[in-house]
Amino acid sequence: MKSNKHQETTFCKICRGIARLFDIVDFNKIVCDIPYPRGLAGIPVYYYRCESCRHLFTIDFDAWSADDFAKQIYNEDYIFVDPEYLEKRPHDSAIYFGPKLNGISDSNLKILDYGSGLGLLAKYLAEEYQIYNVDSFDPYGIPSPSTEGKNMEHLYDFIMAIEVFEHWVEPVVEMAKLNNLLGDNGFIYVSTQLQPTNITRLGCAGWSYASPRNGHINLYSKDSLALLARYFSLRLESVGSEHFMFPKTRNASKTTTAFNRLVSGVLWRNCVIAEDILTHINAIEFNGSWHGNEPADTKGIQWFRWTGSDHSSILIRIAQGTRPLTLIIRVFIEILPEFLEKTTWKLNGELVKPLTSHQDNFIELNFGVMEIDRQPEINLDFVTPQVQSPVSIRGAFDDRNLGLAIGVELR
Ligand SMILES: [Zn+2]
Repeated sequence: MKSNKHQETTFCKICRGIARLFDIVDFNKIVCDIPYPRGLAGIPVYYYRCESCRHLFTIDFDAWSADDFAKQIYNEDYIFVDPEYLEKRPHDSAIYFGPKLNGISDSNLKILDYGSGLGLLAKYLAEEYQIYNVDSFDPYGIPSPSTEGKNMEHLYDFIMAIEVFEHWVEPVVEMAKLNNLLGDNGFIYVSTQLQPTNITRLGCAGWSYASPRNGHINLYSKDSLALLARYFSLRLESVGSEHFMFPKTRNASKTTTAFNRLVSGVLWRNCVIAEDILTHINAIEFNGSWHGNEPADTKGIQWFRWTGSDHSSILIRIAQGTRPLTLIIRVFIEILPEFLEKTTWKLNGELVKPLTSHQDNFIELNFGVMEIDRQPEINLDFVTPQVQSPVSIRGAFDDRNLGLAIGVELR
């Protein structure tokens, strides 16, 4: 960092839109409750935030060489600023992925840990879960015997990028390299923290993840992460607050089992809008054929899912002793006009007509209050007109069969 002079605006690293100066922190700030345990470096790091996609980033490392990073960030002190990096994170990841991948690991699925550090995730998966088909690759680390000299182009079905995206200097360039390793029907798992909803109030100073000493250069919004995926014809699906899937297509049988296993159990959480209600729900099952979670980022709907067949249902299991709940369905998009109007609904077997109200960004269907004590399960069954693909309707890129894009809310 030779100069501290910064233009008021720069171009966004993701969408190339206008980004404005957002906040300044000292270079020594680390991801910790105590941001400066070793005091300040006296070097200000400027972060910009995009007006369009709300991506948050610094350009202060743009001119750094790999050697600069090795000396000033990923040096012998890095273990102090990120103590989980060496062993705990790979081990936690093995505990997360191991049981899900176990049993399908012998199906010729090619798996890559991208940004693997010392390659411990592959080691733990092999030792503790007998999963042997995981290669390790770290573009900035020590070459791994599993990938050294190997032609990795379009080789992998499943690539894990755990705490990688925030470290990139140029996300689009790096994403191109990563995507180049992905096979035709593959998918990428990404873990990175999205900006909190109150980021404008917190600033970088009040958000621990915005820490230059950890090498956190790019801090994504839901929009900027989705856009980065879309550049490479990938979709963004959330599988938890900091966990994302970037699938290409899920038509291939080889990767479908793995994908479904990896997203099961957590996917539905994002489809329920009211967070506080999660404690009242034991499980939500989306039965029939549903597409994955997609970000809406519209007032009133955070995430939605498309129905993928004419007959779908949502089964909600309620915890015992819960107060009465109101079931709300928010329809974000219908694939064709009058699609929703022609849909018929059955609630626990009874034909019902929900109360419909048109809001700015969605249509809300209110199915009324459920007496939970008598019925610990809510089953909403519905039949739509025939699902259609945007490519067949208007030549759009999307070739999935779609019906209604909906979010579920209970209150
Ligand atoms: Zn942008």
